[in-house]
Amino acid sequence: MNKRIALIPGDGIGIEVTAEAVKLLQKLKASRSLPLEWRTFDWGAEKYLREGISLPEGAIEMLRREFDAILIGAVGDPRISSLKYAVDILLGIRSGLDLYVNQRPVKLLSRKLCPLKSRTEQDINFVIFRENTEGLYAGMGGNFKRDTPEEIAVQEDVNTRKGVERILVYAFEYARSGGLTRVCMSDKSNAMPQGHGLWQRTFADVCKRYPDIEPRHLYVDTLAMEMVKNPAQFQVIATCNLFGDILSDLAAQLQGGLGLAPSANIHPGAVSMFEPVHGSAPDLAGKDLANPLAAMLAAGMMLDHLGFPQVAAEIESAVSRAIDEDKTTPDLGGTMGTREVGDWICGTLE
Ligand code: ATP
Repeated sequence: MNKRIALIPGDGIGIEVTAEAVKLLQKLKASRSLPLEWRTFDWGAEKYLREGISLPEGAIEMLRREFDAILIGAVGDPRISSLKYAVDILLGIRSGLDLYVNQRPVKLLSRKLCPLKSRTEQDINFVIFRENTEGLYAGMGGNFKRDTPEEIAVQEDVNTRKGVERILVYAFEYARSGGLTRVCMSDKSNAMPQGHGLWQRTFADVCKRYPDIEPRHLYVDTLAMEMVKNPAQFQVIATCNLFGDILSDLAAQLQGGLGLAPSANIHPGAVSMFEPVHGSAPDLAGKDLANPLAAMLAAGMMLDHLGFPQVAAEIESAVSRAIDEDKTTPDLGGTMGTREVGDWICGTLE
């Protein structure tokens, strides 16, 4: 049985980097006999401008029924001031498929890319698990007296026992199954005692089920500081939607920038979605300047998830080689274009 992949290139550089990821899948399918098939969906700004459709009706059910994984580039277009269509697509899929785990591996592949003094590949190798369906991104709230000097804006921070528990359990299970020994939970329960008090109490309960794992708690401001001061202390970090979003971008810089940061949106045992952390970067779109490596690493995470961990490891070593040999785009100090880097990775995997 082929593994079925839904491809959503999206907008801007999303389209360019997804093309390189597909080139990679084509190469691996042919050279490693991987049982893969894919279908491309044109969801994004062009379709929205043309037809007024962001996420087509029935899309979620179709993805759930017909696919094993989704690979998405990025959505967002400066021609459309409201972000609603992009939110409909990205958050629509995340919440529609209940992809409650956002997994962000933070791995320094080459010390020459690290902005921190004297840090090596051994020092930066951890994973952030961001709760992906609740928190301040749940979309609850409202505006009162909108566009008047008296306007009041309320954005609710939604934390459910079920939602908090399942992301923490996922982080602990990940640690245990990977032979790791430490999980750090980060919140701001000192300033947000109701919502993040629930994180504290749930963490205390979940910890008891994993006596083999050393639990640790850090307020998010301390965690941000520690992540820069001594990233080697971290193995697994679990946190809420907002903090995970911010920490992921901070962590991306430790590993060489957004052009190298992949992520996964997972519902265990069900169709899951893989994507580079970066957005559509309109400033780079159409210039053959976007770094395709994050998208290619995201394709690697997808193949790992689909049961081909060896192939995922091969992709990661090809990316390491590209960095070592300066076969990179300008964001990593190289002089190559998006397509040239994609070709180089595919050639290396030949
Ligand atoms: P979003 O709000 O969806 O995160 P954005 O357009 O605000 O999107 P990004 O697209 O994530 O932000 O990118 C921020 C900047 O980082 C870009 O303007 C670009 O200069 C740089 N960047 C992002 N991705 C890449 C990439 N793949 N290769 C090179 N530079 C990148």
